[in-house]
Amino acid sequence: MKLILFGPPGAGKGTQAKKISSHYSIPHLSTGQIFRHNIKNQTELGKKVKSILDAGELVPDETVVDLVVDELQNDKYSNGYILDGFPRTIPQAVALDKYLDSQDDGIDLFMTLSVPQEELINRILSREEGRSDDTPEKIKTRLGVYFEETEPVLNYYKKQDIVEEINGMGTIDEIFRRIKTVLDKI
Ligand code: ADP
Repeated sequence: MKLILFGPPGAGKGTQAKKISSHYSIPHLSTGQIFRHNIKNQTELGKKVKSILDAGELVPDETVVDLVVDELQNDKYSNGYILDGFPRTIPQAVALDKYLDSQDDGIDLFMTLSVPQEELINRILSREEGRSDDTPEKIKTRLGVYFEETEPVLNYYKKQDIVEEINGMGTIDEIFRRIKTVLDKI
C-alpha cells in the first residue's frame, strides 16, 4: 500500500501516520521529521534547512525531492509506505509522479485530513514537542504557505481519482477508525 497522507499543519498527519504504520506494518516517511533529525544532529542538510524551518517557509523543491527519491530506494519501502509532509508543492508532486512512473509504480491512495482552521491553531499551540516553528507568528506563516503552495496539490491528485477525504475532527481513535474503514478496502 502506497499512501500519501495530506493536510494542513496541525491536522494530525504525524499522529495518524504512526498509527497506520504500526497497524498495517508499513514504514512512515515524514520529511519534516527527517529535517528535524538532521537539524538536531547538525548535519550538512540540517545546517542548510534550519533557518528555513525556523521561519516556517518551505525547503527548496529540489532538496526535498532528492531526499525523498533517495530514501525511497531503501528496501524497506518496497512493500509500501506512508508519505507525510510530501509532496507539498505542485513541482514536488510532478517530480514524485515522474519518479514513480520510471519505476512502473504509483500511489494507491491520497488521503486528506480536514480540520477547520481555528482548530489547527489550537492544536499546534497545545503540542508539547516544543518545536521552534510552533509559535503563533510562525503558525500564521505556515498556514499561509499551506493555502498558497500546498493546497493546490489536492486538486492535482483529484484529477488522478485517488483522493479520499477524512474528517479530522474527533478523538485520535475516532479518526483512526475512519482511516481504517477506507484502508481496509484497498
Ligand atoms: P507541519 O506540517 O505540522 O508544519 P512538518 O513536520 O510536516 O510539519 O514540516 C515542518 C517543516 O519542514 C515545514 O514547515 C517545512 O519548512 C519543512 N518541510 C517538510 N516537508 C517539506 C516539503 N515537502 N517541502 C518543503 N519543505 C518541507
